[in-house]
Amino acid sequence: APPRIRRLEESVVNRIAAGEVIQRPSSAVKELVENSIDAGASTVSVTVKDGGLKLIQVSDDGHGIRCEDLPILCERHTTSKLSAYEDLQTIKSMGFRGEALASMTYVGHVTVTTITEGQLHGYRVSYRDGVMENDPKPCAAVKGTQVMVENLFYNMVARRKTLQNSNDDYPKIVDFISRFAVHHINVNFSCRKHGANRADVHSGSTSSRLDAIRNVYGASVVRDLMEIQVSDENAVDEIFKMDGFISNANYVAKKTTMILFINDRLVDCTSLKRATEFVYSAILPQASKPFIYMSINLPPEHVDVNIHPTKKEVSLLNQERIIEKIKDAIEEKLMNCNNTRIFQTQA
Ligand code: ADP
Ligand code: MG
Repeated sequence: APPRIRRLEESVVNRIAAGEVIQRPSSAVKELVENSIDAGASTVSVTVKDGGLKLIQVSDDGHGIRCEDLPILCERHTTSKLSAYEDLQTIKSMGFRGEALASMTYVGHVTVTTITEGQLHGYRVSYRDGVMENDPKPCAAVKGTQVMVENLFYNMVARRKTLQNSNDDYPKIVDFISRFAVHHINVNFSCRKHGANRADVHSGSTSSRLDAIRNVYGASVVRDLMEIQVSDENAVDEIFKMDGFISNANYVAKKTTMILFINDRLVDCTSLKRATEFVYSAILPQASKPFIYMSINLPPEHVDVNIHPTKKEVSLLNQERIIEKIKDAIEEKLMNCNNTRIFQTQA
């Protein structure tokens, strides 16, 4: 006889979904930092204990959260950013689904401290499985919001084990913060291990992209970068712009660093990365991998940000053409710098 079909309990459904949105400590950090940026923060500080499994704490000086919103803050699908499906086409914020905080409460213990402008005191409140554990307690607070996630995956034994055995997530977290810092140059990011008095990332806040890259990746990287710009605004049906910095022939590294933002979202695009690496290996004699920062802007209706729960992979309209254009531009830049270099060494 066929097995009976039953409805899963809502708590089971929620925990499964949460495990997809928050796959590892670094994904929690990314969601929290994106919330801080969405809140208009100019300072974002991250503290991590045990690779994020014991503690993740993200503090910002953004607009804060209204006291009356705290009861539903960590319910699934509660958001201040989206109301109609159509808004997805034009949405500027990084969040929109109202799933990140909720997810964290299904796989960890979440405590929020927040204060809005003009208030004399803030509020602190803890959440478990989407619900508030207690009434918000008045407390002292400085501007903005602090979200603390403790004991991530305490209720997902297998996930916790794998993460404990694998190398911890701290390097991934540092990597994320570094990337955000290069793009959001006027936000001061810092990231440190709990108890450490030195931060591993400290971006400062600056008005120059190169300064931001220098602060995070070091002066030796900046020395070997060239500015690059591509636009395709003539075509009627397709408008895209790319600004960035790419390494020149003097840069030496074993691994590609590809920092890619599309419409201000940190994303991965494997085909663009491959195409770029291909151009470098074809043109430059020594086999160094490139350093690439690119910010691509497209009409929002040409980007589907909704294909993946982590929003990491986006799909683009006319992807091949865009990649081709960017490839050509990089090729031209590299040819020029390579010629200059050969010329210089001969002279
Ligand atoms: P989303 O970002 O998709 O809206 P989240 O679960 O990440 O969903 O956050 C839910 C809501 O909580 C946000 O829409 C925002 O209003 C509020 N929020 C979350 N983090 C912050 C923060 N650091 N500062 C101010 N508001 C926040
Ligand atoms: Mg969010």
